[in-house]
Amino acid sequence: MAKDYYDILGVSKDANDAEIKKAYRKLAHTYHPDKKGGNEAKFKEVNEAYQTLSDPQKRQQYNQFGSNYQQAGGGAGGFGGYGNAQGFSFEDLFGQSGFSFGGGFEDVFSDVFGGNGRSRSQGQARGRDIQLEVEISLEEAYSGISKSVELDLNIACDSCDGTGAQNKKMKQCTECRGQGFVERQVRTMLGNFAQRETCNTCQGRGEIPESICKSCQGKGVKKQRKSIEITVPEGISDGQTLEMRGAGEASAGGRAGNIYVHIRVKKHKQFERRGYDIYYTQDIVYTTAALGGDVDINTLAGELNLKIPKSTQSGEIFRIREKGMPHLQSRGKGDMFVTVRIITPKHLSRRAQQLLKDLQSEGI
Ligand SMILES: [Zn+2]
Ligand SMILES: [Zn+2]
Repeated sequence: MAKDYYDILGVSKDANDAEIKKAYRKLAHTYHPDKKGGNEAKFKEVNEAYQTLSDPQKRQQYNQFGSNYQQAGGGAGGFGGYGNAQGFSFEDLFGQSGFSFGGGFEDVFSDVFGGNGRSRSQGQARGRDIQLEVEISLEEAYSGISKSVELDLNIACDSCDGTGAQNKKMKQCTECRGQGFVERQVRTMLGNFAQRETCNTCQGRGEIPESICKSCQGKGVKKQRKSIEITVPEGISDGQTLEMRGAGEASAGGRAGNIYVHIRVKKHKQFERRGYDIYYTQDIVYTTAALGGDVDINTLAGELNLKIPKSTQSGEIFRIREKGMPHLQSRGKGDMFVTVRIITPKHLSRRAQQLLKDLQSEGI
């Protein structure tokens, strides 16, 4: 592999999001090209490493494929969407107080531009996204399942409806005269330009409380334990991510963040999933294989009777239609493929031995 992103950030392979973000901030600060003693090449490298390691999906692909994972066809799409990040002014980023940890790269830009960093649009800061990992069994992936998890979340303050204002009474922001943003000259490598910046006084809302809500001290949000119901649809695969829009943390006056649920499906002892099909091996005694007969086999939908035709060979595969995994969000199911394996008895009675000897003399 070409580059070791963990080395670049100076963190261990199992570093958590907060550690990665902390290392990134420190290094980006050190190498920022606008700074004395800055180093643009290093700065770009640090950014590249952070973009990958701060995104759980990209990080997983990187761990699997190395830094060339973008060519590995890993899917997901949207890589390198922040390729021009170096062109932005990071002074804002580091100059800002109240920086929030725990989110991804986008959150960093949310703090700078207020809202959606990708479009550089003005707006109100969005609530933090929450990343969760849920492990389920193959049976649960087959039937779909609801799971509830308890989270400590910032939720909208109920006394002020999230406005932060006592009795929800607001007045126009004097700093930005209600516009929600202020303009500022910014110096970058590419020259000077005017940049709109979210108004600090009103956080982009254009209005401020007449007086501060006593219940939340004007923050508009309160940390609270909340039970979140996660509905995992039938047919889900290992590695897929569910997005629960607006279920993440609330933000004063802004949109709530999302919850991303990363699904892990445990390996099954008997069934192997390939796409929507299920593969299964069934042992049968050789007399059934030779003479034909019925065997009960396990499927994800319960037991099922499989007819074995006479003269079945070991390794033969039987296809049972529509007994595989249900299609995700569409009708129909995959198939089940049953490979039969002929087993030879370990213990033989005297009579069985005699019968086999007779068969042997018949050349069977
Ligand atoms: Zn303002
Ligand atoms: Zn309040």
